[in-house]
Amino acid sequence: MTKKISILGATGSVGQSTIKVLQAQEENYDVQVLTANNNAALLAQQAKAIKTKRAVIADAACYNELKELLSGTDIKAAAGEEALIEAAKMPADWIMAAIVGMAGLRPLMAAIEQGTTVAIANKEPIVSAGPIILEAAKKAGTTILPIDSEHNAVFQVFEPENKAALKRIILTASGGPFRTMSLSDMEKATPEQALAHPNWSMGDKISIDSATMMNKALEVIEAQRLFDVALDQIEVLVHPQSIIHSMVEYQDGSILAQMGAADMCTPITNALGWPKRLKTPGQTLDLTKMKHLDFEPVDSARFPFVGMAYDCLKSGLNACITMNAANEAAVGAFLGHKIAFLDIYKLVSKSLDNMQSKELNSLNDVIEYDSFVRAQTESAILGTTTHKSAAQ
Ligand code: NDP
Repeated sequence: MTKKISILGATGSVGQSTIKVLQAQEENYDVQVLTANNNAALLAQQAKAIKTKRAVIADAACYNELKELLSGTDIKAAAGEEALIEAAKMPADWIMAAIVGMAGLRPLMAAIEQGTTVAIANKEPIVSAGPIILEAAKKAGTTILPIDSEHNAVFQVFEPENKAALKRIILTASGGPFRTMSLSDMEKATPEQALAHPNWSMGDKISIDSATMMNKALEVIEAQRLFDVALDQIEVLVHPQSIIHSMVEYQDGSILAQMGAADMCTPITNALGWPKRLKTPGQTLDLTKMKHLDFEPVDSARFPFVGMAYDCLKSGLNACITMNAANEAAVGAFLGHKIAFLDIYKLVSKSLDNMQSKELNSLNDVIEYDSFVRAQTESAILGTTTHKSAAQ
């Protein structure tokens, strides 16, 4: 039977790699829906190339453009937030969740509730609403396949039947573009410098998160949720070559690692084929060119977010939502040249200092609290900006 596929966030970095992986396979796929935020031109191009049934654009103002671009085809166009959720509900055997940030929460939940297989790249909802999402997945009988290269690596070497013998999960981190930069230079770092990742080509938000190492902070929380291990069983090591994507150490002293090129096609191909293995259209490793495998601890003075993630997990869901929401708001402001690089850390820290303890029992509770933190961070950003312009 032909596998039915949907891609949420098709126009992004992970979404485009997913289409590349699908197009490279011998097997035919029946693509149900592709979604985007406002890139109607790329969405229409992808929709025609892959012959999807529906193309959905979240920004309703882009509807006419999308409809016009798809005229003369059988592809249905739709727009708006509700259409995005409907898209995630279209019956599919394998759904890629690759929207960026908390904007992906509701579509992800709708996909999870189908009870099939969901490949998750969109880590922010797992950080902020993980327990609710995972409970829904359990109830619906959904299989979750991790797409983040680190979590996909752990997934490949994690032996659920030997969980009692697990010593630790070692998440590797490239260290990002500022791995060796001094704090005083980081203070002056521009968005352009922060976007220039040495190993990976990714969307803007995750690239900034890699520069601050918030990405690794989010991944510590994601790993704890997905693999359900004790916090002290998760460690982070900086591995500048990005060859080992993560490791699992067992009590018998064996450390199992997954290696591969720094190319998202590998984890996507792994998840598409799972439990079988397919052929990647992406880069592969040339072992003869590997000179070093270096590992170093995270410098917590320059990259305090990693330590913050452990504190947030200990504190609970309020803290995880606060850290993520304040970071999303701060990263947006940094990309818009409104705040300095190190202000991202200051703003997230301040939000955590002002954290409120709210009952968080439902998705709506999470969304409400997330919006509250964003609004609070945005007004702090305005303060930062006013202060900056007054000082100029
Ligand atoms: P991109 O910014 O490249 O793409 C994001 C996608 O989401 C695009 O399709 C974009 O549409 C869509 N989108 C953005 N905002 C909204 C919105 N408000 N409503 C609906 N759709 C929206 O992101 P990445 O592909 O880099 O990352 C996606 C997710 O995967 C993130 O959570 C990231 O952390 C995670 N991830 C990414 C990796 C990577 O290598 N890039 C690796 C591991 C995890 P449009 O193009 O129209 O703006």
